Amino acid sequence: MEWDLVVVGAGGAGLAAAVTAAEGGASVVVLDRLRVTGGATVFAKGIFAIGSKFQKALGIDISIDEAFLQHMYYTHYLANARLVRAIFDKAADTIHWLDERGTEFIQPAELYPGAPRTWHTMKREGKSITKALEKTAKELGVEIHFRTRARKLILREGRVVGVVAEDKDGNRVEYGGKAVVIASGGFANNEEMMRKYTQAGEPTIRMAFGQVGKEGDGILMAWEAGAAKEGMHVVQRGLAGVMKKKEVLKEAPKKSQFDKHITAILKQPTFWVNANGERFFNESEFSFAHIGNAMSKQPGQVLFNVFDDAYRKYMEEEGIDVGLGVFAPKGTKIPSVVDAMQASIDKDEAWVCDTLEELAAKTGMDLATLKANVEEYNAYCDKGHDDLFAKHPAYLKPVRTPPFYAIKGHPTHVGTLGGIKINHKTEVIRADSETGLDVIPGLYAAGNVAGGMYGDTYDASHTLGLTLAFAVNSGRIAGESVLKYLGK
Ligand SMILES: Cc1cc2nc3c(=O)[nH]c(=O)nc-3n(C[C@H](O)[C@H](O)[C@H](O)COP(=O)(O)OP(=O)(O)OC[C@H]3O[C@@H](n4cnc5c(N)ncnc54)[C@H](O)[C@@H]3O)c2cc1C
Repeated sequence: MEWDLVVVGAGGAGLAAAVTAAEGGASVVVLDRLRVTGGATVFAKGIFAIGSKFQKALGIDISIDEAFLQHMYYTHYLANARLVRAIFDKAADTIHWLDERGTEFIQPAELYPGAPRTWHTMKREGKSITKALEKTAKELGVEIHFRTRARKLILREGRVVGVVAEDKDGNRVEYGGKAVVIASGGFANNEEMMRKYTQAGEPTIRMAFGQVGKEGDGILMAWEAGAAKEGMHVVQRGLAGVMKKKEVLKEAPKKSQFDKHITAILKQPTFWVNANGERFFNESEFSFAHIGNAMSKQPGQVLFNVFDDAYRKYMEEEGIDVGLGVFAPKGTKIPSVVDAMQASIDKDEAWVCDTLEELAAKTGMDLATLKANVEEYNAYCDKGHDDLFAKHPAYLKPVRTPPFYAIKGHPTHVGTLGGIKINHKTEVIRADSETGLDVIPGLYAAGNVAGGMYGDTYDASHTLGLTLAFAVNSGRIAGESVLKYLGK
């Protein structure tokens, strides 16, 4: 059968492209290798925008120019400035577009103290977007073919004219289309590609949160068809995670495996050391991308969050200093720190110890290093200034009153952020283009398969919610570009 548009992937990017193209009068089929829509998008809690009606209602006033310049500076101008501008300019309109189609927004929230409120949270998280778009797509007559894995692009005289896919029984099925949007997410589950193209490191590679079936298919298909590469090294590192068991590492975290209290405790700016017992970071630097980067350089890529009994009491009686997104906002009182830690204590992943000697022995740290670091840190707490990492004085709380607590944090990531080189219209750039302007006619890429938005790191400091915003906005732009290509 023939369609105007074949979309590969039914996550935020693919569904946004499908709805946009269908609303413009195109016939559209969406293929997804899983049984449901949503992809990694269902795990996202907030989406970036500047100038939305929700921000205006709260008096949040950020200028797009300012955020754009900040992003370009943060990325050392390695990002594609036209693409960044296109996404930033469209982002508020996309919030309203999603709102009109049934996404239920809560509010632009502060992910951590002082963070700009660009992160628009949603009821039911990312599902609120994908379910609303799936419903709209179906009402518009868009077909969604599940358990259908795209494998190859069909080219005729240099144009992309469809996709070869495998159905659930492994049969080859051809989907003819005047245009194709690749929106199949990144390559988080393809360990070989992760090793080859990123510097994530083995422990991080194993902790791919919320990623199922992201084997880089769309990226490989596009490269095979002559697409240029961009941003393959960028990994969206996450916060330190508490999961350990091997069997859960490669799976999406199920709700039951996610204990918000211990995860929130792990995030608190206490006293963080590496496996040697050495402090390595400014604990009041809240960007999870920066935490992940710093952890990635430590032995085993792990951290130990250490605190004393006074801090335990503080978290129970005064509440936490740093919120865990929508799960445990700032000020949440942990009913019992030890109860929250218990499952990890049972797994030998968290400890309560009467002395630092015991703590070093149980965690495997070098006692002399740990003691020297505790001493040094306590002295900074006493004088109210961290001479080493300039931690914010508000969070300088000593490690002095036994018992001492430690939780081991593992590196995580929530996906890859590059692959196919696109322009600001999401057209795919040819690898053999000398000018960098020649495109593969009929081929578009959106969301995590496409590069160009970042330098070496996702920006979790200024533009919170940008990967989801990139997915949905680039999906919309792809849909609009396809309509132009089709002459609709
Ligand atoms: C735990 C977690 C929390 C997050 N929180 C946030 C947040 O708060 N804010 C934010 O901005 N970002 C967040 N992110 C990142 C964000 O979710 C992603 O960047 C974004 O959803 C990517 O959308 P996408 O459409 O490109 O990919 P996806 O939503 O992953 O969709 C890709 C789809 O393609 C399908 N597919 C793959 N291969 C094939 C194939 N060969 N054929 C057919 N279909 C295929 C997949 O099954 C999937 O359904 C989070 C991610 C995770 C995992």
